[in-house]
Amino acid sequence: MKRAINFNAGPAAIPQEVLEKAQAEMLDWKGTGMSVMEVSHRSKEYEELHNHAQSSFREIAGMGGEWKVIFLQGGASTQFPLIPMNFLPEGGCADYLVTGHWSKSAVKEAKRFGKINVRTSEADGVFRRILKQSEIEIDPQAAYVHMTSNNTIFGTQWQYWPEVAGKSLIADMSSDIFSRPIDVSKFACIYAGAQKNLGPSGVVAMAVREDFLARAKEDLSSMFSYKVQQANNSLYNTPPCFSIYILDLTLEWIKKQGGLQGMQKVNDEKARVLYEEIDSSGGYYNNPVEKADRSKMNVVFRLPNEELEEKFVKEAKAAGIIGVKGHRSVGGIRFSIYNANLVDNVKKSVDFMKDFQKRNG
Ligand code: PMP
Repeated sequence: MKRAINFNAGPAAIPQEVLEKAQAEMLDWKGTGMSVMEVSHRSKEYEELHNHAQSSFREIAGMGGEWKVIFLQGGASTQFPLIPMNFLPEGGCADYLVTGHWSKSAVKEAKRFGKINVRTSEADGVFRRILKQSEIEIDPQAAYVHMTSNNTIFGTQWQYWPEVAGKSLIADMSSDIFSRPIDVSKFACIYAGAQKNLGPSGVVAMAVREDFLARAKEDLSSMFSYKVQQANNSLYNTPPCFSIYILDLTLEWIKKQGGLQGMQKVNDEKARVLYEEIDSSGGYYNNPVEKADRSKMNVVFRLPNEELEEKFVKEAKAAGIIGVKGHRSVGGIRFSIYNANLVDNVKKSVDFMKDFQKRNG
């Protein structure tokens, strides 16, 4: 068996240890004689797993009991309308810090529910940087501020947590959650689709501070209400049990890597190796974003022309390096080096880059 060097942007690589554990438990999970997919979500065994995943999430993030963890479906994209539905009062407004494709999508959906103020780093239709603190003007009326911590498509990442004049800050951390320590005191709500750093698709993990949740609207359809979801411990209806199971195993794996400090160390090293190769290629590989705002999760770069980029993708695949084509909206190359990617695999890929340049320079 040969495992791919998997740089897919999401769904993405899952730690091998996690997959092996799931494989070993597939036919008989916790002595039930069933897989986790076959047990009742009302069973004692499942509930234990469900609660364990929530407490692991809090433990890893460094969140106290004032934080509630809920599991939601419909992907991060479904939270784009649900956040204003829950937290934007009638006639109110919210501030959105827009630094890439996904934060723009969040704005598009939020606008259906009220007035949205946009602070954006977009220039000429593209995003090459993160907003500076001095550009972030907060509306005194804003019910909350929304940001996207890592821009999966454009390859930029917030390297500081913005000051938002005491407003409640909500962050979509889908593409860098648990890749580095989080100062949770800055946030009222953090959410992420699991399919990059936390496991498989099918579940969104949302942590919300209880005082902020208390402000959520009441008169919503139950499935759209964060209050109802939390009050029912994310078991209002059938949860995505298997996704939560893999999420739980992935959180255990993160703890074993030394938690967020440990993850950061490895992720810093992978990003360093990759950007060093780009920067020392004499412009052959070109990372088009501001250096200070470079993402340590999604490393994007261009080659001298599109034909070479196509060749690069094809030859990388033949060499066992998968998922390196940039997002269809921007082109180029993207290596998504999420938590589960090994330093060694990044080094092997850098060897491939050197060799490719030598042959095609
Ligand atoms: N936010 C970010 C930062 C993302 O990278 C993505 C997916 N790539 C999404 C939101 C959308 O996630 P989903 O597909 O789970 O709706």
